[in-house]
Amino acid sequence: MKTEPQFDLDALNADFESAAATDILNWTFRQFPAGDVAFSTSFGAEGMTLMHMLVTLGFKPRMFTIDTGRNFQETYDVWNEAVERLGVEIESYSPDAGDLQALLKGHGPNLFYESVENRKRCCHVRKVLPLKCALRGASVWLAPLRREQGESRRDIRIVDWNETHQLYKICPMANWLEENVWTYIRSNDVPYNKLYDRGFMTIGCAPCTRPVRPGEGVRSGRWWWEPDEAKECGIHIEDGKVTRKTKLNFQI
Ligand code: SF4
Repeated sequence: MKTEPQFDLDALNADFESAAATDILNWTFRQFPAGDVAFSTSFGAEGMTLMHMLVTLGFKPRMFTIDTGRNFQETYDVWNEAVERLGVEIESYSPDAGDLQALLKGHGPNLFYESVENRKRCCHVRKVLPLKCALRGASVWLAPLRREQGESRRDIRIVDWNETHQLYKICPMANWLEENVWTYIRSNDVPYNKLYDRGFMTIGCAPCTRPVRPGEGVRSGRWWWEPDEAKECGIHIEDGKVTRKTKLNFQI
């Protein structure tokens, strides 16, 4: 049973701070069979970059996305492009029909605008619970997160032990800057979500994401009606931290 880290995470992270993302991926696939590694993507710029890197290096982890049912058409377009141009196979995880029915029956389809608690209810049903299914059985969660993406991501480690899902969470692009991502995309002709050309800086669900004005923070286009400290959907926050900080112990 996977209960605790087998690696010296402090030493690894110290080494990886100056390592290329490709070196971190090489290390990952030397340590773990590809089938034990689950790569999550919502087809944002970072996810497409990491996907392209994996394909180029010839690594074949399980690749999955959470289809919340509220995505932009442009997100499905780049998903389709990834399949056609990069030849990847993407597992799709959707909200449970019963959970969704209870959520909509109790709160309506636009509950997220009513309160932070209702928004987190929606994220819980549409993202957090499907993620649990997606990561079941995995030893490694490969995630395209960057520290620069906002306050709640400022301290992410390149390699960490995730208590919630009992696996290693590896973020090879943790210390990348936005310009590094776009340099990679343009140099390698990586498919990307065309919403970026219309002022979007991150891509989430359609009702909860909007373009960002010059000078605004990267994640200011997400849940713009909420205070900054609330701006996470829960999938990148561990259960213990969620319970302490936001008391997400609700009924759907
Ligand atoms: Fe629901 Fe918005 Fe969260 Fe998507 S981002 S799951 S629509 S609250």
